[in-house]
Amino acid sequence: MLRKPVIAIDGPAGAGKSTVARMVARRLGLLYVDTGAMYRAVTLAALRAGIDVEDEGALAALAADIRIELVPAEDGAVRVYLDGEDVTAAIRSPEVSRHVSAVARAAGVREELVRRQKSMAAAGGVVMEGRDIGTVVLPGATAKFFLTAREDVRAYRRYREMRGRGYPATLEEVCSEIRERDRIDSSREVGPLVCPPDAFILDTTAMTPEEVVEAIVARVGEAR
Ligand code: C5P
Repeated sequence: MLRKPVIAIDGPAGAGKSTVARMVARRLGLLYVDTGAMYRAVTLAALRAGIDVEDEGALAALAADIRIELVPAEDGAVRVYLDGEDVTAAIRSPEVSRHVSAVARAAGVREELVRRQKSMAAAGGVVMEGRDIGTVVLPGATAKFFLTAREDVRAYRRYREMRGRGYPATLEEVCSEIRERDRIDSSREVGPLVCPPDAFILDTTAMTPEEVVEAIVARVGEAR
């Protein structure tokens, strides 16, 4: 039997990673791991504890101390628990989105979460999605993908998502938030957002999620 595939998906905010990773996992019967949700959970915990997002030591200690669970739901979505509390909705708030890149810049936070992510993928059979998956977390992945899309399209996707959750953001606000996040994520020292040299690049600007899924599944089939 073929070993269960390990699929790495990276890319900037709003490129469609979560939607597509979830669909690919469902289609291939793999576990979907949203690593952004883990950084968001640490951020929520830090904001609640009143920790300064510039205080690397306190952030690292917090990350090592909290329990984060990603529990697959019936519809292929994932529920996120922080020390047993369901924070699925809370980690998507504008406040968490505004601070998450500062928290994710802390080397100690990354070290802790990368360690947990590696162990989640150790048995194989995962689709993991984030910013440093193909480069740092799963350098030996069966197949690596880098999803991009034109900035205005990415901003519009996030805008629609935020409105759908009941947050009254303007398109301009969402656009400047993802631009700032991508800037910090791309320029940090540890695990920056970069396209892995061996990744298959997919520009999703004019693609439907189904088309992106087809492209990924075909490529994974070739790689095995
Ligand atoms: O994927 P999502 O947009 O929810 O990720 C939120 C933030 O978490 C990113 O902007 C980035 O700062 C951080 N992140 C990261 N490394 C990952 C996944 C997410 O630094 N592997």
